[in-house]
Amino acid sequence: MPTAAPSPFAPTDADLVLVNGKVITVDLKDSIAQAVAVKNGKIIKVGSNDEVKALIGQQTKVLDLKGRTVTPGLVDSHTHVYVWGNQFWPGFLDTRLPNASSKAKLLQLVGEKAKVAPKGEWISGNQGFSLSLKATPDRWALDSVSPDNPVYLRHLGGQYAVVNSYALRLAGINKNTQNPYGGRIEKDPDSGEPTGRLFHYSAENLVGRLAPGYGVNTAEKRIEDVKRGQDLDLAAGYTSGQDVIAANTAIVNTYRWVESHNALKMRIYVMQYVASEEDGKNLLRDVQPFKSEMLTFGGWKLAVDGGPGAGTALMYDQSLQAAKNSYEYWDQQTLNRMVGTFHKAGFQVSFHAQGDKAIDMAINAVEAALKETPRENSRFRIEHASFPTPQALERIKKLGIVISTQPQWITAWGDEFRSAVDEKTMQRMMPIRTMMEMGIHLAFGCDVPATPVLEPKYAFIGAVTRTTTSGYTTAPQECISIKDALRIHTMGSAYASFEENIKGSIEVGKLADMVVWSHDLYSMPVSQLMDLKAEVTIVGGKIVYEEK
Ligand SMILES: [Zn+2]
Repeated sequence: MPTAAPSPFAPTDADLVLVNGKVITVDLKDSIAQAVAVKNGKIIKVGSNDEVKALIGQQTKVLDLKGRTVTPGLVDSHTHVYVWGNQFWPGFLDTRLPNASSKAKLLQLVGEKAKVAPKGEWISGNQGFSLSLKATPDRWALDSVSPDNPVYLRHLGGQYAVVNSYALRLAGINKNTQNPYGGRIEKDPDSGEPTGRLFHYSAENLVGRLAPGYGVNTAEKRIEDVKRGQDLDLAAGYTSGQDVIAANTAIVNTYRWVESHNALKMRIYVMQYVASEEDGKNLLRDVQPFKSEMLTFGGWKLAVDGGPGAGTALMYDQSLQAAKNSYEYWDQQTLNRMVGTFHKAGFQVSFHAQGDKAIDMAINAVEAALKETPRENSRFRIEHASFPTPQALERIKKLGIVISTQPQWITAWGDEFRSAVDEKTMQRMMPIRTMMEMGIHLAFGCDVPATPVLEPKYAFIGAVTRTTTSGYTTAPQECISIKDALRIHTMGSAYASFEENIKGSIEVGKLADMVVWSHDLYSMPVSQLMDLKAEVTIVGGKIVYEEK
């Protein structure tokens, strides 16, 4: 790093300055600056090279951008840092693409592992394979390649798992086993035997609780997973991540442990998953919320439906493939009661809702909660909101609900969604421009591992092109500009966690979270977005990632 001569006139020496760049501030006027100065983790000056160079002292670290572009650190409104790190645990059978590219390939992977594994040892797949439901093997197909080892494989989307007969036996699941609350054990219509497919978390967990990397885990491994997940996130350009589904208190505590050992390098906002009304009551009694600049407990997450790929999206048109396995995870009264209780206790509540009917159920619950306990600025949030109706959008706007969504799904899942709904419904998929122009609060998050790709460029590509991998463009009038996409992915996502006053833009007084990019986001052609990458990631004025 070059060291500049100290200025005797500097009112204060900066810890770090970034000079000679294009600083996209994402402030209200969308100003562009040349340089930024940081002290004590906060931004103290944004302006010209001369203005910022005046703050260089003997101890100041100078980062010469050499013309490169800087943006605020990206805020991921929907991610799973621990679960993402967990995917790369070496104890798993890696079923993610490109490995399990077909049913035959998946069975081959399991078979190869079964040949070398001692009898009775678990074959546990990461999250996971991304075959269509139709192409997913059942228990009998898995038995044919792994008769003597229990197998647990989870779909990438996390909405279902498939297991073999050995695993069903260990879990005590047979034709007489009742569905757990919120989940479905798929049964063969003729024999009544479980097929091995388990829909939604509570059913998946009946077997997952026994599988290494899922229910069978250690605190040390979880810590490693969080660290691995955050390093991948930082290298991608995310400086904050909202983990909207910590499945249990152990995961929340892992984040706390990492923070308390000064090993948390990105900022985390964590929401805990609630599986049932009873679960919710216990959690509300036991959990002590916490808040710092690095780690904040955000509130509670409820799932209202599954997804179109698993056929568990709750749609008004039940004849659609997207809804063919769907059922209500909650009745409206239970949902209202739970949401009302959490809201009354002062927490933010977030809903997973993809289908139009699920989205309406979430909105109904919000409306009821706000009627019972009016509170300004409650910022209820709906995650994904894949197929809202136009009427739903009006209500979302009126109730101030934040939509936290994944434009990368348009590219990654657009073709699959299209085959699961009709053309008319497809026109309602993620109407991002309409929502933006209505003034609905939008946030973007990548949702790994339920999305095959991590980097924010995929959110930009999805939002700007709305084009699927096969080349189909859905509702092209809903495309937005890269400028709008960047604002949603910074300020918009910061709003979703009540943090727009401390992050999301490069302004004096805000946290010094920034990313230096390989390209100028505002002038690069859309066709080059695939080449965009983070070169330096800065959190609180510290360089936490630098491209080698
Ligand atoms: Zn998710």
